Amino acid sequence: MTASGDVAIVGAGLTGCLLAGYLARRGERVVLYERRPDPRLTGAERGRSINLALSERGIDALRRVGLDGKVLADALPMRGRMVHSADGVLDFQPYSADGRRAINSIGRGALNNVLLDAAQALPEVEVRFEHRLTGLDPATGALTFDTPDGPLRAGAAVVLGADGAGSAVRGELLRHAATAETLDFLDYGYKELTIPAVGGEFALDPGALHIWPRGRSMMIALPNPDRSFTCTLFWPTSGTESFASLSSPAAVERYFTAHYPDVVPLLPHLVTEYRENPVGLLGTVRCAPWHASGRVCLIGDAAHAIVPFYGQGANCAFEDVVVLERCLDDTGGDWSAALPLFDRERRADTEAIAEMALANFVEMRDKVASPLFKLGKRVEHA
Ligand code: FAD
Repeated sequence: MTASGDVAIVGAGLTGCLLAGYLARRGERVVLYERRPDPRLTGAERGRSINLALSERGIDALRRVGLDGKVLADALPMRGRMVHSADGVLDFQPYSADGRRAINSIGRGALNNVLLDAAQALPEVEVRFEHRLTGLDPATGALTFDTPDGPLRAGAAVVLGADGAGSAVRGELLRHAATAETLDFLDYGYKELTIPAVGGEFALDPGALHIWPRGRSMMIALPNPDRSFTCTLFWPTSGTESFASLSSPAAVERYFTAHYPDVVPLLPHLVTEYRENPVGLLGTVRCAPWHASGRVCLIGDAAHAIVPFYGQGANCAFEDVVVLERCLDDTGGDWSAALPLFDRERRADTEAIAEMALANFVEMRDKVASPLFKLGKRVEHA
């Protein structure tokens, strides 16, 4: 079976859905291919809910297509960091001098669903779930997918890889020697835990991003609209103080009581969640070029995944969409000129945020607890 569309976007995550809306607005016919079933029917994977800090960079991209209000309706503003020291002392550090600027906590699933609804409502956009890209010929735009009904062949004039850090599109470009990549994994991973509401109320101040800096490791917590908090532990993956080192329920309880004493009473499912929730990997993807044959291009995490410590991966991916649209405008809609231009215009900024995100890990796990950071001069990031 063969199917074709003018533009194929691989991946209906945050980048793919927003991009589909932008292109439809330009009159492009878009087919959005997603390997998962419809997430609005299945919900988030256990332990992978991920709260995002959405900031002005990302909101600007949403505003341009009228989606900011709808997205922010599901978000909670955080006007600063609440630093929890090991002796239980709290220190609120506002993100702006006037204390009014905020970053916004939003669940990745909720954000994805709003963008998916918006894309699917457009007559130019068709979404095909349970289509996992398995093959791409960059020269012709021929695509192959695994589907519940067996393999499917499709074609497109333009193919945009918005399929995340482990991008299959990038894999196909590598296989055709059309790009080169380096992947740098941290020896840190992340695991999610939940602080449920207590008596229907938030257990911590919902107007802050909570941080427990502990030197080599740290934990953060962001509020959810149901008055729970999602905590993310960023810990080494191996060694004496690591995810791997806490192998019994007693060891988990002992460790948390020693290092996170104020939060232990708020984590009723600590041991179960610690045992059952997966450890996610953290790394930086660098690849060049992002484009091939004047018709294929990587965008978002597929092109430049970063570690999450600056809270900018999705914000930056949304800004990619704005920049790609500008490149299309500047080239009169000529994709073969717009894609190399996008690579040239965007690359330096994504390299800069990748370095800043790595540097901010050291700041968050360690320096935010230093007296120097109590001057309230830090702005606009986690
Ligand atoms: P993804 O969200 O990975 O979406 C890719 C999509 O492609 C998925 O739907 C996937 O199923 C699909 N797909 C994959 N392979 C195929 C295939 N072969 N065929 C078809 N479809 C496929 N960013 C922020 O801005 N602020 C934050 O505070 C923040 N916090 C984070 C915290 C953590 C712990 C992590 C891990 C990330 C965080 N991020 C944050 C980063 C953010 O989640 C990513 O930058 C963002 O999700 C990238 O969007 P994307 O659409 O490019 O990729």
